[in-house]
Amino acid sequence: MREVKDITNANTVMNEIFASDTLSLEELRHRLSKPAYKSLQATIEKGAVIDPAIADTVALAMKTWALEKGATHYTHWFHPLTGLTAEKHDSFLSPTSDGSAIAQFGGRDLIQAEPDASSFPSGGIRATFEARGYTAWDPTSPAFIMRHSNGATLCIPTAFASWTGEALDLKIPLLRSTEALNKAVQKVLPHFGISANKVSSTLGAEQEYFLIDEDFYLARPDLVMTGRTLFGAKPPRGQELEDHYFGSIPDRVLSFMTDAEHQMYALGIPVKTRHNEVAPGQYEIAPIFEPSNVAADHQQLIMQILRNTARKHGLMALLHEKPFAGINGSGKHCNWSMGTDTGINLLEPGDDPHTNLSFLFFCAAVIRAVDVHQDLLRISVAGASNDHRLGANEAPPAILSIFLGSELTGVFERLMSGKGTGSKPGLLKLGTPVLPHLPMHAGDRNRTSPFAFTGNKFEFRAVGSSQSISLPITVLNTIVAESVDVLGAALEAGLKKKKSLEDALLDVLKDTYKKHSRIIFNGDGYAEAWHKEAAKRGLLNLRTALDAIERFTDKKNADLFAKYEVLNQRELEARQEIMYDIYFKSVNIEGETTEWIAQTQILPGALGYLADLSSVGMKSKAATRAAEQVGKATDALSDALEKLKTQNAAEGGESVHEKAHHMRDKVLPAMLEVRKAADTLEKIVAADHWPLPSYRDMLFIK
Ligand code: ADP
Ligand code: MG
Repeated sequence: MREVKDITNANTVMNEIFASDTLSLEELRHRLSKPAYKSLQATIEKGAVIDPAIADTVALAMKTWALEKGATHYTHWFHPLTGLTAEKHDSFLSPTSDGSAIAQFGGRDLIQAEPDASSFPSGGIRATFEARGYTAWDPTSPAFIMRHSNGATLCIPTAFASWTGEALDLKIPLLRSTEALNKAVQKVLPHFGISANKVSSTLGAEQEYFLIDEDFYLARPDLVMTGRTLFGAKPPRGQELEDHYFGSIPDRVLSFMTDAEHQMYALGIPVKTRHNEVAPGQYEIAPIFEPSNVAADHQQLIMQILRNTARKHGLMALLHEKPFAGINGSGKHCNWSMGTDTGINLLEPGDDPHTNLSFLFFCAAVIRAVDVHQDLLRISVAGASNDHRLGANEAPPAILSIFLGSELTGVFERLMSGKGTGSKPGLLKLGTPVLPHLPMHAGDRNRTSPFAFTGNKFEFRAVGSSQSISLPITVLNTIVAESVDVLGAALEAGLKKKKSLEDALLDVLKDTYKKHSRIIFNGDGYAEAWHKEAAKRGLLNLRTALDAIERFTDKKNADLFAKYEVLNQRELEARQEIMYDIYFKSVNIEGETTEWIAQTQILPGALGYLADLSSVGMKSKAATRAAEQVGKATDALSDALEKLKTQNAAEGGESVHEKAHHMRDKVLPAMLEVRKAADTLEKIVAADHWPLPSYRDMLFIK
């Protein structure tokens, strides 16, 4: 990734802006008494429940800070299962009996709130008679100030649960999975002589998005209603020239980016890189990695700020996975690793052999996790919009595999064959240091892999650009926790048999590699040959979201989530139900929008042009020819439209499961037929009769 400008370090002014709108622990330390601060710190570090007596003091400090920052309202900010964020603002001011008002915000307001939760999806968890849910403060993610043109709000990151204690959000399972990973890794660290109080996963997400002029957006009801274009002929020039990639950023875009980045800095989001992406009009923004939970909160804020700020610059930020057919889609590469509170990245190969022992162990754990739980990783990125990327001839494919790179693969292969540089086939004898220098640069990496080792972390590339990263991280944390446990148990068994650490580990690595190396693929993930090869290896190819979602509640997965206390059966079923529901609803909206636009805009446009042609009279050869072509294509559109109407009107079934399948199997293909006919027309109907801005307009006018 190319760095354009690292403002955080380059400019001291930035040091003053950075995190100025977040309430850091450091800031709280200045504002709290020593015992209060200590208690809060313990709460955060140990994940303990906060002492109510302390909560009042913290709330007072928080309120004072927020009022100083100009906030008039506060909100518990949470992540419902829609994948978006939710907030309900309360004023700090309460009227008093003498007619004035005082600023009120106590410990109870901080710790817990009760939003009217009945309109958030619960997947059946919340019975209608108990529609309430509550939000609870997550002190591990700092509170922050959200500014809008006319004021500011204190946002308190919170978890959202039902009164029966079930998670109704994306944050709670993420926090639980972090704890599961922490426990599992802590158990094995002593074997490698590493000590840590806390282990957590780290995450850096690279966000891709498109920018188009707001005027075009407003003239495209498909973009407004669904986030993607449902019509649009391929422009004469797509991304063939690739001159946009890493090219100079247009001025208007740059001023938008700078504006957005300033807001992100104020919120303490460590944005680092920005650049043009491959497709015309496509860009990327990436922060430096942070602890996963904070990264997930920040990722939601990044999306929100991109959307809001673009409009201030007369632009629209499109975060949909595939806003334009035939043009590269957008993903959100999730760079994931595990780190200790003592600053060790457990997936970073070191210079000394002992670090490498632990590195190989954790690396093998990830390999096993991805192989055993291919389905879960695919499920974690499943949605109607991501189907236009995964499995649709675009990188990455829907088949999960790991790109390890030739060096690291070579290391494992040598372990298997026992052919090292040493005299006897022990682990350290394979050459000291065991690992060759591993390349870390983008150029050396395979770009078609859904899951790639990139030197000191894994990069999960199948994540969609518009989705919350919480579920993918939750899955990664959980499946790796399990693998660390499994490999850890095998290691201990070896040690009990009086094997040296080196020999015991060698057995574990060999066994793991033997069982799971089928998941490793360093070649071209686009290629047809890989699909055949992957099938031969028995790897899953869950092409569509629905193929994936139906496996979410499989016994293997339910057992895993239950064992690691990440999701219980009800919580798991609820999530599956909601995924079906969101799939159904979003394709349903697309189907109806397609029908509407075709019926009320495109068909009338084409018929109007046809009428013009007929008025020229049949004496003109050109008019006759054009009328014939347009007439034929218009008939095709009309036929396709009638079929789509039938499918849109059909119920499809009783359950969301059946309804979702109806959308995939009947509505989507019918929509495509309508689109095909319309796109043909777009190329032959007079431009002044065409009702929609074209791809050419939207993608190339900056
Ligand atoms: P490149 O794409 O060139 O490899 P970097 O390696 O610098 O660029 O980083 C890409 C992304 O990976 C950034 O968001 C970065 O913060 C993140 N990243 C780097 N190290 C880690 C880590 N240990 N854990 C999680 N993410 C990381
Ligand atoms: Mg990358």
